[in-house]
Amino acid sequence: MTTSPTPLYDIKDSRFSGLIHGNAGLERLWTGGRWCEGPVYMAAGKYLLWSDIPNDRLMRWDETDGSVSVYEQPCRHHNGHTTDRQGRLISCEHGGRAVSRIEHDGSRTIVADRFDGKRLNSPNDVVVKSDGSIWFTDPTYGIDSDYEGHAAPSEIGASQVYRCAPDGRISVVVSDLVQPNGLAFSPDETVLYVADTGQTHQPDCAPKIRKYPVDANGSTLGPGEDFAMSDCGLFDGFRVDVSGNLWSSAGDGVHCYSPDGELLGKIRIDEVVANLCFFGPNRNRLAICATTSVYSIYVRTRGC
Ligand code: MG
Repeated sequence: MTTSPTPLYDIKDSRFSGLIHGNAGLERLWTGGRWCEGPVYMAAGKYLLWSDIPNDRLMRWDETDGSVSVYEQPCRHHNGHTTDRQGRLISCEHGGRAVSRIEHDGSRTIVADRFDGKRLNSPNDVVVKSDGSIWFTDPTYGIDSDYEGHAAPSEIGASQVYRCAPDGRISVVVSDLVQPNGLAFSPDETVLYVADTGQTHQPDCAPKIRKYPVDANGSTLGPGEDFAMSDCGLFDGFRVDVSGNLWSSAGDGVHCYSPDGELLGKIRIDEVVANLCFFGPNRNRLAICATTSVYSIYVRTRGC
């Protein structure tokens, strides 16, 4: 099924015209979720996975025939996903209050579930750096209620961004956000972008994406600064393309920003978007998790 708001594209800057296909329609791959999140492309298996968090299930779209099935339910209320350099699935678990990895034999390994002896809140989104370190955000959405996890007090008492080193050691890398959410590195890994959805808990917390310079050691960050402010809804998950443009979820669809933070344009969608990823053999297609549905659209760039 194809569905397209009119107009589909909102072009703010001529550079955006070079990043889209004017005649590429928006395609709805599936609908029937409550809050779709955490899309990830499993290249070797030719399928997409995403979370339907309130329904505590992982969904799977098969690239070979377009069929959709339940991949795992219950699934410890997964949220964000990515793959590591070996193609293994890395998951943020609200219910497990952990970041986990599925090994090639199918077994599950806990990557991180505590910091300083205290349980994490509810890992939300995750990215793997080229050195194998795993960086993830830990807001409270999965412990705020029983809707997207299990209600519980925060043991840590703060919502932070963590780095899990290849040897398993965990360190705080960002502590100046109210509710850190989506995150991604620039293509050269000199910048880490992190979204703050803290407006859900503090009305005066403007919806934004912050950028942090990665120190020369590759494992710590310098002082952050604002990168982009949302003009509609919250920035949740996002991805960066090979040219460094940032494609973010927002209240009215997908917003695309240049590396210097200019809003280049939007892909308008009739549902609130929570997250997206590039997929397909050429990584030139966006999978967009939008509340009840998952949409896709071809773009004129590739995810990195
Ligand atoms: Mg998120």
